[in-house]
Amino acid sequence: MSDLRDLYQETILDHNKRPRNFKKLENANRSADGYNPLCGDKVKVYLRVEDGRVQDLSFEGSGCAISKASASVMTESLKGKSVEEVESIFKRFRDLVMGKAEEADDLGKLVVFSGVCEFPTRVKCATLAWHALQAALQDTKEAVSTE
Ligand code: ZN
Repeated sequence: MSDLRDLYQETILDHNKRPRNFKKLENANRSADGYNPLCGDKVKVYLRVEDGRVQDLSFEGSGCAISKASASVMTESLKGKSVEEVESIFKRFRDLVMGKAEEADDLGKLVVFSGVCEFPTRVKCATLAWHALQAALQDTKEAVSTE
């Protein structure tokens, strides 16, 4: 178990140091800002949504290691997913970081944030980029299932 924890920790530190998709997305058609005043994390999420799918996404911002790594892994995990899939993955990710997930095997790399549930104040850090993403998605005129 502690080996697994080390691996998770390493992945988070790696994404913090070298965040993926950390740029402005030039052809984005959606974007939203997120701010977590508790920790001072700021994030801006860019999306290109076409045909009900997140074709591309990126982020910019500054904040703690958890918020940055979470945004980075999120952008890697959601590229090419349908809006419905994104909603469902977000719900499961939120359960994971709140310690309510029953199983998370199919969440892929997102599982590295499972330890966050032991630090309730960091849950907002881990979900900040996701809330911004959701705000950007809800900009849509297409039918988006929120529940
Ligand atoms: Zn934070």
